[in-house]
Amino acid sequence: MELTIEGLSKTYPNGVQALQNVSLAIPAGMFGLLGPNGAGKSTLMRTIATLQEADSGSIRLNDLDVLVEKARVREILGYLPQEFGLYPKVRARDMLAHFAFLKGIINKRERQALVDRILQITNLYDVRKKQLGSFSGGMKQRFGIAQALIGDPKLIIVDEPTAGLDPEERVRFHNLLSEIGENIIVILSTHIVSDVNVLCSHMAIINKGEVLATGVPIEMVQSLAGKIWKKFVEKTELGRYTAEFNVISTKLLSGRTLIHVYSDTNPGDNFEPETPELEDVYFATIKGCFSQNHNLVNQDLAEHRESGSDQAGDEA
Ligand code: ADP
Repeated sequence: MELTIEGLSKTYPNGVQALQNVSLAIPAGMFGLLGPNGAGKSTLMRTIATLQEADSGSIRLNDLDVLVEKARVREILGYLPQEFGLYPKVRARDMLAHFAFLKGIINKRERQALVDRILQITNLYDVRKKQLGSFSGGMKQRFGIAQALIGDPKLIIVDEPTAGLDPEERVRFHNLLSEIGENIIVILSTHIVSDVNVLCSHMAIINKGEVLATGVPIEMVQSLAGKIWKKFVEKTELGRYTAEFNVISTKLLSGRTLIHVYSDTNPGDNFEPETPELEDVYFATIKGCFSQNHNLVNQDLAEHRESGSDQAGDEA
């Protein structure tokens, strides 16, 4: 199972170039698409979900041409959009049963068994008779996953799922996603670095419609070893440091200002070496300090393209 995106571009009628020549190879498992607001994540997610058209480029799911064979894609797709409306007066179980009916599960017994199983997986069985309007943010998100799980999807897309969840709900949601994400492709679009850190075996960083880096999170972090430097500074000195060094992040820590600087060598000025984390990869990439491509998967894609082969990334 592999999703291969090649040269995908999209410009909205107002002139905003939301996607610029995006190429990605997404293997089975959890894939994190990380980028700030406005980066183009939702545009990419909606295009993969067959809900909007691209101007150029291609998307393939194994042998399936996603941009052409939309009905077939929808049969194997589970999609949890950034925002979704729920009928507040309808009970959770009835709503899921309705979705299952729409997905073609006509037999009532079969439908009920499926719905109950999904309610159990998503930890909503105890509240199955409650009206959706009474659900908390976390329950609504888990209901969103529940509806996305109907029909045994091979590809699940979740757009910004943990924004607005409290820490406990977030952990629950992470656990749920990691359980379903092993044998199918789950694409998680988020601006929250820790979501990717915890969950994803592969990731891409996207900004202004372009893929800036892609690879295995741990390897991307390792490639920053020896290049991140830290220092506590006075707030009033921030301007000077920003002008003089590649400051990638500024954080308040116990009332003091901690800055992280990207530098291949010791920048002097009493900076201390810092153990890099995924957040440093993210900020260094977004700030343009760090442009190496760590994507083995993408290299596969490039090699295949050069050799004129249709099949991308056999091993991925
Ligand atoms: P993200 O999900 O990363 O926040 P989006 O894909 O929603 O990014 O948006 C990418 C860019 O495209 C933004 O500049 C946004 O304002 C713009 N955009 C998104 N949808 C539309 C639309 N329907 N019409 C015009 N511009 C849009």
